[in-house]
Amino acid sequence: MRKILIVGAGQAGLQLALTLVDHGGYDVTLMTAQTPEEIRNGRVLSTQCMFFPALQIERDAGLNDWEDKTPWLEGQRVTLAAPGGQKVLDFYGVWDAPAQSVDQRVKMAGWLERLERSGGKVVLHPVATSELESLAAMYDLVVIAAGRGPLVELFERDEARSPYDHPRRSLAAVYLHGVEPWPSRPVPQVRINAVPGVGEMYLMPAYTNTGPCDAVLIEAVPGSPLDAFTDRRITPDEHLTRLRALLAEWMPWEHELFTKAVPTDARSTLYGSYTPSVRRPVGRVGSQKVLGMADVVVLNDPAAGQGANNAAHCARVYRDAIVARGDLPFDEQWMHETFERYWDYAQWSTALTNALISDGLPEHVQRILGAATQDDDVARRFARGYSVPPSLAEWFFDPHAADAYLASRSAAQSV
Ligand SMILES: Cc1cc2nc3c(=O)[nH]c(=O)nc-3n(C[C@H](O)[C@H](O)[C@H](O)COP(=O)(O)OP(=O)(O)OC[C@H]3O[C@@H](n4cnc5c(N)ncnc54)[C@H](O)[C@@H]3O)c2cc1C
Repeated sequence: MRKILIVGAGQAGLQLALTLVDHGGYDVTLMTAQTPEEIRNGRVLSTQCMFFPALQIERDAGLNDWEDKTPWLEGQRVTLAAPGGQKVLDFYGVWDAPAQSVDQRVKMAGWLERLERSGGKVVLHPVATSELESLAAMYDLVVIAAGRGPLVELFERDEARSPYDHPRRSLAAVYLHGVEPWPSRPVPQVRINAVPGVGEMYLMPAYTNTGPCDAVLIEAVPGSPLDAFTDRRITPDEHLTRLRALLAEWMPWEHELFTKAVPTDARSTLYGSYTPSVRRPVGRVGSQKVLGMADVVVLNDPAAGQGANNAAHCARVYRDAIVARGDLPFDEQWMHETFERYWDYAQWSTALTNALISDGLPEHVQRILGAATQDDDVARRFARGYSVPPSLAEWFFDPHAADAYLASRSAAQSV
């Protein structure tokens, strides 16, 4: 039996562990810092909207444990606003299939319990870098799936793939009950409100410990008026008070929908900021090598809601590569090839995210958004880019390709 050690119990590490145990033939150990109860009763971790391809990966693996309880999100609404609370444009794109958001406190606690039940070994221990060399000598493969924790320092930043050297947004999330749906289309949907140069507000209907809720994330340009949570040590009620004040000033149409909102629980808030970074996949610990996965090696700002989706794709690519390797050693070349297979996908979600958090939306993207208000096909194609980022390759990033597509749509509409 091949011995695999996975460090970290997030989307990536747990999905990889569960799918390897399910495959059989692997002795899987997962090391993590928290018990299921600590995760379940802890602070929120993400807003984790997952699009249909990632949900299908979970479904194929039989890991869709909360699918029946979680709201099905039909599409995404984009509203651009000018200072003063003026709507500049608004459009809605339906996805090819629905998305869902299961609170990671619910999911990771449940998956960790499931891993223990299904024969994986769970060791409650926060792994220190100094321990990794001796640990790695005991396993055929060590995978570091520790998210944004200090172990990322083992992996060199890939400057060519990392255009930003500082955080682009200050993040402030809260989970709420009682937010009202969008009046003219009251189905569960993601609401993206953006004020260029100031920041964004994302709302995702989700499922948490206390049932359906809305996860609301402010992404503030650092130092802008939306950057109103820097003291961090505030109660969820105080968070909601500040959120309401921001909405009243910058997005008044949302403010009206938050009148009856209340926080879901005492740990329903999350704050942070981090530098988007792509790292090299092989970490060296003395004479041993370890493989980085998901956020450890491709860390995006949450602006396009891609990280948990990336983690699901990464876990599937790594699982398939481990199985395909048979009895051959998991050497450095295999690690690089495995990561590059994942990067074939993740480069597009990274490119989308980095475009959305750049200084000023490129002009051709502004033309795309304008056209989407007039043409559902454009709105759907833009929305598809979030759920299937590689679909953006052929039209979104290159101004000529984007304009050619928009011209073809104008021609089609004028017929
Ligand atoms: C505010 C916010 C909103 C987001 N919204 C979305 C969204 O809508 N859609 C989306 O797709 N993504 C979203 N993301 C990103 C998404 O949450 C992450 O990309 C995803 O969870 C990464 O999964 P992971 O398994 O790589 O890491 P994580 O989920 O961070 O898991 C890492 C695990 O490793 C453990 N760990 C860390 N260090 C150690 C150690 N030394 N020893 C042992 N264990 C360790 C941690 O405790 C944790 O269990 C959001 C992120 C944030 C911060």
